[in-house]
Amino acid sequence: MYTVTDLDRDLSVLEAQGAKIFTVGYSELGRPIKGIFKGRTDGPQLLVQGAIHAREWVTAQLCVLLAERYEGECGLWCVPMSNPDGVMLAQYGLDSVANAEKRDFLYGINGYSDDFSLWKANARAVDLNVNFNALWGTGRSNVTYPAPGNYIGPYPFSESESRALATFTDKVRPRFTVSYHARGRVIYYGFNGANPDPQIPRIASASTGYPAYTSEGSAGGYKDWFVLTTYRAGITVEVGTEGTPYDELQKQLPSMLAENSGLLQALDSEARKSL
Ligand SMILES: [Zn+2]
Repeated sequence: MYTVTDLDRDLSVLEAQGAKIFTVGYSELGRPIKGIFKGRTDGPQLLVQGAIHAREWVTAQLCVLLAERYEGECGLWCVPMSNPDGVMLAQYGLDSVANAEKRDFLYGINGYSDDFSLWKANARAVDLNVNFNALWGTGRSNVTYPAPGNYIGPYPFSESESRALATFTDKVRPRFTVSYHARGRVIYYGFNGANPDPQIPRIASASTGYPAYTSEGSAGGYKDWFVLTTYRAGITVEVGTEGTPYDELQKQLPSMLAENSGLLQALDSEARKSL
């Protein structure tokens, strides 16, 4: 596993090595959403985020490892675990929820099963990556009721986690964003027919070896919102082999790391080229 405690420990190590640790906000259950900053605050900035989907917690560990290795000149703002409540739920089930009423609610939503390992949403059963204000509610897989995944929430930005990430992104004004998800070893780019910085998916594809596709039928995601509101490139990178059980993806970390270790450096060079 890679838990909130593991993340805290790794952040302390990185801080001791000179990285800055920041908090973008708090989850619905009050857990801090922490990040790592490296590089320079002047000039172009990059933002990388992971584990917005609970069961994809392996991407939090990948983000930490990538931030640790980053040596670019752009400022790198890395938010490894955007959905800490969901990750806790996927890993520890209802034991991670203190409030009895919330536990009962989540148990029912999960089909009265104690196994939350396939949970995608946050602790209010909202899928954060369809809760952003980008053609909200029009996505192909959207559902309009609380669920383990794909529930858009009552209105855009109804969730503290999506609000925190958006507010923070507005503040940083990154040149490019990378969102780590699992699985498929594929890159998605653009939104609703828009493809700003078309060289970015090409560069990312060359660097990782993953094919890059325009995202069809997607709405309300972090990447969707970033592309729509800034007209800059945001990409979604899906790591891990399709079909691998989520709780076994951690075994693929060495190959994930090898495939993704050049990506941030490539984006760093590209961001500085466009100055
Ligand atoms: Zn995902």
